[in-house]
Amino acid sequence: MENRLQIAAGNWKMNKTYSEGIELVKELIERTKEGRAMVILGVPFIHLKGVADLIASADSTGGQTSSIKLAAQNCHYEEKGAFTGEISVDMLLSVGTEYVILGHSERREHFKESNEILSKKVEHAISKGIAPIFCCGESLRIRKAKIHVDFVSNQLNEGLFHLSKEAFSKVVIAYEPIWAIGTGETATPEQAQSMHKEIRTLIERKYGKDVAQNTSILYGGSVKPDNAKDLFSQPDVDGGLVGGASLNADDFVAIINSF
Ligand code: PEP
Repeated sequence: MENRLQIAAGNWKMNKTYSEGIELVKELIERTKEGRAMVILGVPFIHLKGVADLIASADSTGGQTSSIKLAAQNCHYEEKGAFTGEISVDMLLSVGTEYVILGHSERREHFKESNEILSKKVEHAISKGIAPIFCCGESLRIRKAKIHVDFVSNQLNEGLFHLSKEAFSKVVIAYEPIWAIGTGETATPEQAQSMHKEIRTLIERKYGKDVAQNTSILYGGSVKPDNAKDLFSQPDVDGGLVGGASLNADDFVAIINSF
């Protein structure tokens, strides 16, 4: 029997000043105390320490442990050194970061992150104890050409499947069709389920049934309060990676409560 975490992960991207972000997290902590799902907040680097402190103080004073975990939106694959503007995994760990979003299509496109670079980032993060939320997904052109399964399979092969079984078991996958990100166009629950099932099958072939059944696979691409329930109720959809709708407490709380 599978033992998968249900996860609502937010990706703030390059949004929110420090004080706006802190206000949002205070509200989320207050309104997610009873939640069944794990909530992960992918915040800009400047927010990490402040958000970690808020979560810690909620845990020590609230009498109930917050289900909110902290994610960064990037990391470097080298330990440290002359990489101006970059951030190391040790730096992320030093402020309590537990997850890192890697392979987002915006980083692949705007910052030319290849599967090869991502494979190094994933390996380095896991070796230090940070779990990757590894994004994959096809463009509209690829989907129209009906080669989306092969395309995503290649992203997993080149970006993830070099990992040992033990290392892979730390990974969360986010299937994010590029044509659905920030466009208001969502994959149908059937389209999401179909790709998630393909992904789980690929994992099973590589790492076996247990690992496949225990890997959380999130859907990302215009998840909103009015479509989250249908998406999350698909058997292989274990939650969502949410961009725009994670910037607003009412919307994100409604999504969290959709499980
Ligand atoms: C994302 O940023 O990963 C994302 C899916 O964005 P949105 O929910 O806005 O489509």
